[in-house]
Amino acid sequence: MPIDASNRIKIGVLRERATGERRVALIPADIRRLDSKATFVVESGAGREAGFDDDTYVGAGARIAAQREILEISDVIVKIKPPGVGEIPFSGRTLVSLGGRDPYVVDALRKRSVIHLALERIPRTTRAQAMDVLSSQASIAGYASVLEGARALGILLPMLTTAAGTIKPARMIALGAGVAGLQAIATARRLGAVVHGFDVRAAAREQVESLGARFALVDTNIGAGESAGGYAGEQTIAQQVQLRRALSTHLATMQLVIATAQIPGRPAPVLIDRETLGMMKPGSVIVDLAAETGGNCEVTRPDETITVNGVRVMGPTNLPSLVASDASRLFSGNIRSLLAYLLERSSRLQLDASDPISSALLDGQLTTNLAVAAA
Ligand code: NAD
Repeated sequence: MPIDASNRIKIGVLRERATGERRVALIPADIRRLDSKATFVVESGAGREAGFDDDTYVGAGARIAAQREILEISDVIVKIKPPGVGEIPFSGRTLVSLGGRDPYVVDALRKRSVIHLALERIPRTTRAQAMDVLSSQASIAGYASVLEGARALGILLPMLTTAAGTIKPARMIALGAGVAGLQAIATARRLGAVVHGFDVRAAAREQVESLGARFALVDTNIGAGESAGGYAGEQTIAQQVQLRRALSTHLATMQLVIATAQIPGRPAPVLIDRETLGMMKPGSVIVDLAAETGGNCEVTRPDETITVNGVRVMGPTNLPSLVASDASRLFSGNIRSLLAYLLERSSRLQLDASDPISSALLDGQLTTNLAVAAA
C-alpha cells in the first residue's frame, strides 16, 4: 500500500565527485519503482555523465536540488564512492555508499553519528545477491578489462585469414576466476582469443571449463582452497613462491593477462614478479584489476601503465566508469533491491540487528553510534 507522501522517507542522491567517476548510484527508472515508498531529491547533474539528465529524474518523480540541501534534508543519502570532504551527512542520517573498509571514512562517519550502510558488507547470500554491488561492478570490470587490454595490444584477438596471410589468435589468461575473471574469460572467448583461466579454488576449474577455456596448472597442487563465503583463503609464503614459479612458464606464452586475484580484506596475492615479466613476450599486456589492493603484479601502480621488458602493466581502478550507463543501471538495481528490502514493512528503514542483511551492514554501529551520540 502506498505511504502518504508526507510520511515517506526522503532519499537524496549525490553527484559523484571523484576524478574520472561517471556513474550514478540511482537511475530514474529505479526511483520510479520506489516511488510509493520514498520521496527523492537528486543533485543537479548527478546522472549526466551516465546518460540520465535532470529532466528524466524529474519525469520519474524526483526533485532536483543542490548538494548542500540534499545533505541537509535527506534522511538517507545514496552515493557510490566513499564520501569525500564536504560529503559527510549531518548527524543522525544514514549513508549508503562504498567506503566500509576505509578507516578514515568509518571514523569520520562515527564521529558525526551517521549510520553507514557500507556496500562492501552486503553478505554473499542468495537473499542478498540482488543487492551485491561488488559482484555487479566486478562483472562489468571483467568485460571492460578485455576491451582495454585488446586496445593496448598490437595484435588482434581473433584468428584472421585474409589474402595477405593468416593471423593466429591471441593467447589470453585470467588469473583469478571469480566474478570478474569469469566475465573476462567469456568476453575474450567471444572476441576469438585462445583463453585460459586459473584460480586457487578447486571449484573454479569447472566454471572456467564450462566457458570453453582451459584451466591452467591442472596438475599442480598449490591451492589455498576456499574459505568462508566462497572466497579464497590466503596462501603461505612458500605456497606463493611455488605458485609464482609454476605460473611463470605458463605466462611466458600469453599475450594478454587479466589479473583479478583478490582475498577480501587482505593485500592481493603477487602472482607475477619481475622475473616472470622478463620471460614474457615484449608487446604483451597485463590488465591488473587488483591494483587498488596492491596488484597481482609486482610493478603494478594504481591508474598507471608501467612498462618492463616491453610488457605493459596497466592498473585501472575504475573500469566500470568507462561503461557508465550500464554500470549505473546495475549499481542502481542493487541499491533499489536494498532499499526495497529495508522499507518493506515500514516507512522508515528497518535496521533490525537480528536480520542477517541489516546486521552485516550495521556491523555493530547502532550500539556504538548511540553511545557516541549520548557522550
Ligand atoms: P574476489 O574478488 O575476492 O577474488 C577474485 C578471485 O581471485 C577469486 O575467485 C579467488 O578465488 C581468486 N584468488 C585469490 N587468491 C588467488 C591466487 N593466489 N591465485 C589465483 N586466484 C586467486 O572474489 P569474487 O570474484 O568476488 O568471488 C569469489 C567467489 O564467490 C566466486 O565463487 C563467486 O561465484 C562467489 N560469489 C558468490 C556470491 C553470492 O553467493 N551471493 C556473490 C558473489 C560471488
